[in-house]
Amino acid sequence: MKITILGSTSTIGVNTLSVLSGIAKKYKIFALTAKSNYKLLFQQTKLFKPSYAVLICPESAEKMHQLCKKNNLKTKILCGTKYLSYVSTHSKCSCVMSAIVGSAALEPTLNAIQKGKKIFLANKESLVMSGDLLIKNAKKYNSLILPIDSEHNAIFQLLFASGLSYRLGDSAYYDKNIDEMILTASGGPFIDSPLSQLRNVTPSQAIKHPNWKMGKKISVDSATMMNKGLEVIEASILFGLSYKKIKVMIHRQSITHAIITFKDGAMLSHMSDHDMKIPISFALMYPSRCDLSIGKLDLTKTKELTFFPVDKNKFKCLSLAYEAIKIGLNAPTILNAANEIAVNNFLKNKIKFTDIPVIIEKALNEVPFRKNTSLAKIIENDRNVREFTEDLIRRKM
Ligand code: MG
Repeated sequence: MKITILGSTSTIGVNTLSVLSGIAKKYKIFALTAKSNYKLLFQQTKLFKPSYAVLICPESAEKMHQLCKKNNLKTKILCGTKYLSYVSTHSKCSCVMSAIVGSAALEPTLNAIQKGKKIFLANKESLVMSGDLLIKNAKKYNSLILPIDSEHNAIFQLLFASGLSYRLGDSAYYDKNIDEMILTASGGPFIDSPLSQLRNVTPSQAIKHPNWKMGKKISVDSATMMNKGLEVIEASILFGLSYKKIKVMIHRQSITHAIITFKDGAMLSHMSDHDMKIPISFALMYPSRCDLSIGKLDLTKTKELTFFPVDKNKFKCLSLAYEAIKIGLNAPTILNAANEIAVNNFLKNKIKFTDIPVIIEKALNEVPFRKNTSLAKIIENDRNVREFTEDLIRRKM
């Protein structure tokens, strides 16, 4: 099977290549893509020898071209966003890892779905912004979308283990069999801070995650719990389950990633070390598993596993995400875009940490709701919300 990795220099991209190097027999790399990190892309190209390497930044593409020429590599270097779709829809590639961070992943992912490719979906924005469109197209073109996000991948593993099938967005099926899906959250760096202290939180405090190191934006999303909010939206779209049946619990040990409560009262939980190679390898090897040579969890060293409800008054972003999925239409697109702009401005010290939910709420109240029926409309809507939010912040709200 030939695979294209969109965003091979991202954390998920790097982990995917690490898993793939162990299961080289099943997959051959067709294409690797990066925005501008040509140095890492070159290392990856040297090792995996893909047919194509795509870069978005022209200067980086030029440097990559020279490096490949000097090293006698046959990989063809392409430059520009349109080539992301070229390599994701190419007839020689049968599956795509969508690991680009941000909305740039939308178009090449949707195009690949329309060609019936198998999609390993790590990009959150695709589902949050254009979930209905993606699911509708996946059903129409018979494309299988497998989740990489650890909580959703845990649910996917639980469905498999319980004997239920994995059916994209099949509300009737899951509603009949499942009482509740529980996504766990570590609670981020401010889980113990009182609400009154959050106002003065600095960007460097917010990006210090207690359990792992991640990019700045997702770290702030973890601190506000918007990350979990986006994951509730993702789960509701992927499995077609009502938001009322998707719960979030604080689980500080980050060992249990998701729990399903079935209609008969049985609960199945997925436990593992928090290593992204685990969800990635399950998706790549499904329906079998591979031997991942990584340290396994020793439960005797885990003193306790605790679960608490979320203080929704403190973590308003989570409530806003539930509100957005309840409204439906383009509300998740508005939520996502307003959040991204608010987080950017917080990181630049232009707004307070506690302003983030206030800004998102204003955007949800003021940007008109509508049905987003095409990718072009979603992208336009996303751009308008970003402009609206920037303007709101400029006018000091
Ligand atoms: Mg996650």
